[in-house]
Amino acid sequence: MKNAQCKKCLYKFFKKDIYTIQQFQYRKKPTYKWSLEFFEKLEIDEWDSFCEKCIMFYSKKSNDAWKKLKVKLFIVSKDSEFYEPRSRESKKIS
Ligand SMILES: [Zn+2]
Repeated sequence: MKNAQCKKCLYKFFKKDIYTIQQFQYRKKPTYKWSLEFFEKLEIDEWDSFCEKCIMFYSKKSNDAWKKLKVKLFIVSKDSEFYEPRSRESKKIS
């Protein structure tokens, strides 16, 4: 009997085919801690059931969000590198 249901698409399937975000703990990046926080914002917890299609969707979604975050961090660090020599120089002048 198909008695499990995907939280996202509401598709019914066999319990043995349940996927949860717990499988993301085997990913190196994003870290599982980060993944949990990400899914918490989407109101998804470790015990929610998903079909294979939807867990793949969330896998990609969280991965994309993680990559965007990394780009942002990179820009910030580039900025501080850019400003640091300038502030040193202004100290020299004064
Ligand atoms: Zn689904």
